[in-house]
Amino acid sequence: MKTAGKMPGKVENSLHPAQNRTERYLAAIPTSARGIIARSLSKQGSPRSAIKAKCLDCCNFDRSEISDCSVVICPLHPWRPFQAEILKTS
Ligand code: SF4
Repeated sequence: MKTAGKMPGKVENSLHPAQNRTERYLAAIPTSARGIIARSLSKQGSPRSAIKAKCLDCCNFDRSEISDCSVVICPLHPWRPFQAEILKTS
């Protein structure tokens, strides 16, 4: 007798769909950014680290792209990380 709602041979995933999506996202990003983004997603990081996580995600995890960000209409622009690196090189 078959169990209703289960596909034969399909592995059941017990994670909530949003959790599953988060796990897949974290697995796909560079390990260097995984910690800060995981902390932000779990509300364990500071607002400052959440901004850093968002900028890293926005700039494909490239710090120099964040330093050079020219999207001045982005509400995070004045608060973006790695601005000190611009001052060091200019
Ligand atoms: S400040 Fe720049 S890098 Fe950060 S989220 Fe906005 S557009 Fe992206």
